[in-house]
Amino acid sequence: MRIVLLGPPGAGKGTQAKKIATRYNIPHISTGDLFRENLKNKTPLGQKAKAYMDAGKLVPDELVIALVEDRITKDDCRSGYLLDGFPRTVAQASALATFNEKLGKPLNYALNIDVPESLLIERIVGRRVCPKCGASYHIEFNPPKVDGQCDIDGADLVQRADDSEETVKTRLNVYNSESAPLVDYYHFKGVLVNVDGNQKPDEVTSAVFNILDGGAK
Ligand code: ADP
Ligand code: AMP
Ligand code: ZN
Repeated sequence: MRIVLLGPPGAGKGTQAKKIATRYNIPHISTGDLFRENLKNKTPLGQKAKAYMDAGKLVPDELVIALVEDRITKDDCRSGYLLDGFPRTVAQASALATFNEKLGKPLNYALNIDVPESLLIERIVGRRVCPKCGASYHIEFNPPKVDGQCDIDGADLVQRADDSEETVKTRLNVYNSESAPLVDYYHFKGVLVNVDGNQKPDEVTSAVFNILDGGAK
């Protein structure tokens, strides 16, 4: 199954992606995570992406497209993949479509997690992530069992540098102007499915599984 996850920053893409990837046994590919990994390892790609990420802007299309094309041609993507945070522009979506056409492997679903904008800032500013395994928590809506520590591996949770209230506003503006048009784009392609993201995380997961299990579109 080949899936792209759509939705604004803070919609719950990463949270749901982990569950989907486990259930359907497909790799979870988050372009944000890939860039953060490159940043941490001070690779040339990380250095090119840094200023954009710090400012809450999009990394240029050509860098992201090359990164994703390289990743989805790896062996573990043979039976599918889940893209989280890509595409974020229509140019990225067209590049993916062309690439997939060439491989004869079209997308099955564009899963859009729909959340009212008024909820997003609180979700993002309260997000805490595990630097070790990538698990995502929320100080209020999805707290870890022990304050400040990952449930899975006990690592100290951190706040992402770009999760400040100031940068979040830029990211939401960028989403509205650059990424929101993808909902219509995939609707016209006939692969869009919408999920109400304004429910408890487990309820969102059930709704998603229901769609993907049932093959409903
Ligand atoms: P995204 O990957 O779309 O940016 P995340 O999955 O990291 O979003 O979720 C953003 C924040 O909101 C995290 O702190 C997460 O724990 C929290 N969150 C995720 N899903 C929900 C939900 N359904 N209700 C409330 N908070 C949620
Ligand atoms: P995320 O973890 O998905 O919130 O992404 C964090 C940051 O990485 C974004 O604010 C962008 O700077 C960059 N990024 C991630 N995915 C993309 C993409 N598909 N296109 C452009 N920039 C991206
Ligand atoms: Zn962890």
